[in-house]
Amino acid sequence: MKNIIIFGAPGSGKGTYSDAIVERYGMGHISTGDVLRAEIKNETELGKVAQGYISNGQLIPDDLMIDILAKTYDAQPAGKGVIFDGFPRTIAQAEALKKMLAERGHEMGVMVELVVEEDILMARLLNRAKEQGRADDNEETIKKRFAVYQNQTAPLIDWFEREGIRHTFRWADTPNKEAMIESIFAFLDTVK
Ligand code: ATP
Ligand code: MG
Repeated sequence: MKNIIIFGAPGSGKGTYSDAIVERYGMGHISTGDVLRAEIKNETELGKVAQGYISNGQLIPDDLMIDILAKTYDAQPAGKGVIFDGFPRTIAQAEALKKMLAERGHEMGVMVELVVEEDILMARLLNRAKEQGRADDNEETIKKRFAVYQNQTAPLIDWFEREGIRHTFRWADTPNKEAMIESIFAFLDTVK
């Protein structure tokens, strides 16, 4: 399988669909949010730095993220393709990803964009707060994350469009998790 970049606002389902894709196609999975939460849990130096940004709904600085991403990517099994979940989140990260992959003779592959209305995202994240107790899933921080997404991450949509790899899936068209997974699979089956 080619590499896949799964893209969308907080709560859009990146992690959920990534898990389904990994199960079907047997590829690697890099969730930068999960990497950072593991660092925080293990109380590493990186974790200490990341905690302040995450609990404020802010992005971790690009240079730090780009470094983490390259190390995590190089630790993945070769040749199976990787799904990038939560990265890139800025234009600088996207440029760095493209360069990092090119240096290894690899490509970005395809971008899967998840579009979900903001009121639905908020409801999902508040529900997740009850189930998982993530420190950044409270109404105030969620609003900050939405603003960060709009200002810093959404501009990437045009960037991917220009790269010619953007494929959009709208919750409003198939407001059902299984149906979303089916349409994403139907597309990915044509990619290989
Ligand atoms: P969801 O996983 O439900 O779509 P999300 O996108 O907010 O929600 P994560 O991807 O887990 O959640 O990210 C959580 C936090 O980790 C972000 O708000 C940010 O602080 C930090 N983070 C994760 N990835 C990056 C990145 N690529 N660049 C900078 N910060 C990041
Ligand atoms: Mg996630």
